[in-house]
Amino acid sequence: MPKKRSTKTDGKASKQLNKKPKAKKPLTHAQLKKKVDEWFGKAIRYRAADKDGFAECWTCGTRHHVGYLHPGHFASRRHMATRWDDREDGASNVMPQCIACNLYDQGRQWYFGRRLDEVVSGRAEEIMRAAQRPRSYGVAELRQLVDRYKIEANAQLAAKPAIANRPAKGEAYSRTQRRKEEAAAEGEL
Ligand SMILES: [Zn+2]
Repeated sequence: MPKKRSTKTDGKASKQLNKKPKAKKPLTHAQLKKKVDEWFGKAIRYRAADKDGFAECWTCGTRHHVGYLHPGHFASRRHMATRWDDREDGASNVMPQCIACNLYDQGRQWYFGRRLDEVVSGRAEEIMRAAQRPRSYGVAELRQLVDRYKIEANAQLAAKPAIANRPAKGEAYSRTQRRKEEAAAEGEL
């Protein structure tokens, strides 16, 4: 798809002349996609949090503060049709996952699918099929998703303030685990 490019050339000059307060540039499609990832990921994790801000990893069951959990995908997030899959029955393509499961064990996909099927029989296959369908999002739709999940994440945070108090890493992890995660965080950027 060809990207539209701005043909404005006088933007800078006129701004300097008028010294108007900077108008906020609207986010690009790519930036909006990142924003949906961010707020959707928060909503998924915060929703799962208990009153202490902890939730279980979907694939290994270990309890972590949600600040240490990732939004883990069963079908890869490159499939747009299921990238922000969200189902009320609690067995969707994106579930809270510990960093070890999410990054070190191919997302433990087999366990991921098995647990989905435990909640709703056939769900893993259903998601894998849905993931193959082409899906694209317009800017307006992305904005709606950002708003929707921002509202939910903030409501969860208001209801469970402990979500904001992520304990120091040392309290929750062994040294080996911590080293693994630091290496992962660096690799991620
Ligand atoms: Zn795990």
